[in-house]
Amino acid sequence: MERLIQGFEEFRRDMTSEHRELFARLASGQTPHTMFITCADSRIMPELMFNAQPGDLFVYRNVGNIVPPYAQHVSGVVAAIEYAVTALNVQHIVICGHSDCGAMKALQNPAALKGKPSVEQWLKHADVARYVVEKNRPTIHGAEGLRYLTEENVVGQLENMRTLPAVAAAMANGSLRIHGWIYDIANTEITAFDPLEGRFRPLDSRDANVPDATPHARFSTPLPIASAA
Ligand SMILES: [Zn+2]
Repeated sequence: MERLIQGFEEFRRDMTSEHRELFARLASGQTPHTMFITCADSRIMPELMFNAQPGDLFVYRNVGNIVPPYAQHVSGVVAAIEYAVTALNVQHIVICGHSDCGAMKALQNPAALKGKPSVEQWLKHADVARYVVEKNRPTIHGAEGLRYLTEENVVGQLENMRTLPAVAAAMANGSLRIHGWIYDIANTEITAFDPLEGRFRPLDSRDANVPDATPHARFSTPLPIASAA
């Protein structure tokens, strides 16, 4: 805790004049362009990763970067999305999973959830990923299985997000685009879900305007692994 307090003192002391002016401008309101939903994992720092400034990103984090479907579960993330879309008019929402995710590992190994009833209950919202991978890649386990699970969870949460009326309405009039990404911690790389190709590929400028096509038949052919793309 002392490190936090000292850190805040250093932050105030070392602040540039540009930052001071920016905070003064932001004091009366925010107009972030993007909502960024990611895992609570301490190794992910969205503002650092995207070289973002205060006011750029509306960040929401929870265990497993999960968005429960509409009407099934009243949760903070659903309220935050509704606010981001209807009050802040964000143009993009990104759901970003990551490598070595403890939540995804727990889907692989449910015994790890013993004594954690709340986490267990929460991860039911990610069960679609476990089921899809189990049914379509039953022989794949370990690190490769974890990668499939992580990818499928992002795709599943994108689908859940479409069930939110505010999201559906904004997508229907073209004012909102949704994106599914995965951050590889060890290699500091991001792969983005391409719904037309039905796979994750390295993030590039095309992803600013990725079409909102519904992905289907992802497992009809051997699914390329993101890092081999
Ligand atoms: Zn995680």
